[in-house]
Amino acid sequence: MVGAGLTAGLVVAPGTAHAAPAPGPPAPFIENCPSWGARRPSSPVKIWDRRPIRILVHHTAGPNQRDVSRDAGRRTARSIQAYHMDHNGWLDSGQHFTISRGGFVLEGRFLSLGELNAGRRQVEGAHCTGQNVVAIGIENEGTYIGEGPPPKLWDSLRALCAYICFRYAIPPTELYGHRDYKNTICPGDRLYSMLPRLRSEVGAVLGRRVSRTEATRASWPLLRTGDSGPEVTAAQYLLRDAGATRGSVTGRFDEATADAVREFQSATKAEDVNGILGGESWPLLARTVSREGGLLLRGTGRYQGDAGRAVDTLVARRPLESTPDTVDAAAWQRLLGTGGAPVAEVSDPPGVANR
Ligand SMILES: [Zn+2]
Repeated sequence: MVGAGLTAGLVVAPGTAHAAPAPGPPAPFIENCPSWGARRPSSPVKIWDRRPIRILVHHTAGPNQRDVSRDAGRRTARSIQAYHMDHNGWLDSGQHFTISRGGFVLEGRFLSLGELNAGRRQVEGAHCTGQNVVAIGIENEGTYIGEGPPPKLWDSLRALCAYICFRYAIPPTELYGHRDYKNTICPGDRLYSMLPRLRSEVGAVLGRRVSRTEATRASWPLLRTGDSGPEVTAAQYLLRDAGATRGSVTGRFDEATADAVREFQSATKAEDVNGILGGESWPLLARTVSREGGLLLRGTGRYQGDAGRAVDTLVARRPLESTPDTVDAAAWQRLLGTGGAPVAEVSDPPGVANR
């Protein structure tokens, strides 16, 4: 009779009471490694018993091909894997997921899909040194410097990010670009500039409103040859302050500035010694600066030396804003115009490298 009683209690009309709780956003269709013809990893994929806390968006920096078929996406996934294994010497694709120009979503490194669906553990990737365990890496096929991603790719990126956020309980604000952590143009100026929109849209899919302030995350301006303006002037002062150059401060990022950046990158053992000033070198270059005089002259003392001149340069264009007595990383980001909600400084556990 117990059985009968239970059955009676559970008989309900479809779509009324006892409906399953909201299951979260729909899972996008993700093609697993065997179905796109991936090679087996050259050594076992490492799995960490922890969840990732953010997502990193990349572009492949390959051609913006017109072929948006499923087969084109598979070919792209295979060629990335071949490059990562045969050229970089990694055990498999470095990224966890790949999105083709046609919006097809493919598993990158083996086991990434199964672990995502389970939502508890993380496959160690090789997409950004220092972020391979704490972050899921998504490669978006194409180059998005002057051109934005095709709508189908964007729709899949939003859907995939929402699903990852849901499965791993990652807030929709925790989406970043590769350049936030490294001296790289990746994921391209255009796609990078769309990240606040991506955070908002992913939030909307998850039923969570992401305010404009929340959607803007603190970072550093990416500076490279050809750039000009007060940020470049400030960077040149800071490069002088760091002893990387004795060159003049011109406000124009020329070859001499690129040389100074490379000098600084070598001295600080940066992974990329490429003359591009990005998220790996900025935090080291923009050292904390205090006004002279300390408490006695609070609010009136001057900042000293070349680092002080960098502060003065940036303050001059925001005359109405108060400037703190101590300019730390958050204050530098605000002065540089890239301030936003602060970013938690979390990196991989020791010993993780690209492999
Ligand atoms: Zn990247």
